[in-house]
Amino acid sequence: MSKKIYIDAGHGGVQPGAVNGKRKESDDALRLALKLQELLKGQDCEVRMSRTTDVDIDIDDRCADANKWGADYFLSVHRNASTSASATGDEIWIYSKANTYTEAKARNILNAVCKADGLKNRGVKKGAPSYTDYGVNKYTNMHSALIELGFISNASDNKVYDAKLDAIALALAKSLLSVVGSEWKEPVIKGDVNGDGKVTAADAREALRASAKLEKLSDREIQAADMNNDGKVTASDAREILKKSAGVK
Ligand SMILES: [Zn+2]
Repeated sequence: MSKKIYIDAGHGGVQPGAVNGKRKESDDALRLALKLQELLKGQDCEVRMSRTTDVDIDIDDRCADANKWGADYFLSVHRNASTSASATGDEIWIYSKANTYTEAKARNILNAVCKADGLKNRGVKKGAPSYTDYGVNKYTNMHSALIELGFISNASDNKVYDAKLDAIALALAKSLLSVVGSEWKEPVIKGDVNGDGKVTAADAREALRASAKLEKLSDREIQAADMNNDGKVTASDAREILKKSAGVK
């Protein structure tokens, strides 16, 4: 059974979280959460989102939703803020009484993100800065963490966040799969039979050879070559690939 990953975009609606000029933490968190949801489509996991729009949801309701759904992992996405404009880096918070497994999972995720955005690794932290625990860690009953992706109060961290958003999302997607015991699979690009990342006449030739039984394709190659998704690779698939390689819609 595939594992369940709960993605919680922090804040929302009338609760923007930290703000820097027009920039709201709630928007930044949602932007990333939506990318993450998209990346995890087609992977071996189920995903549930606390919100996909700019709405305010009680922390209790987010946690109850994840508990009821039976999530295997809960990640709350946030951005940090400080009165010091030079404060920088990524950090991750876990429950004050978290066990070593929860801690190891959080470290795995944080390390992957720091590698992707190049920001300072501020470490895995237990509890919360000024009270005992973040609600998302306290009221969820599965492994959970709250990640702070750079400081919204730091212009340079914001630049990194915008420029590296795709890389951060990919690092989160891969590490989330890893912490639930699944593995990232490169998504299949339709038409890219040889798996070199682009669709060219060479892919069409391979499809044609497969259709004429001159070549045997792997499952991944068949998935890429079978343009009309009828379960087999035929000359008409090869023609579709050729058209795609030539940019014909
Ligand atoms: Zn926050």
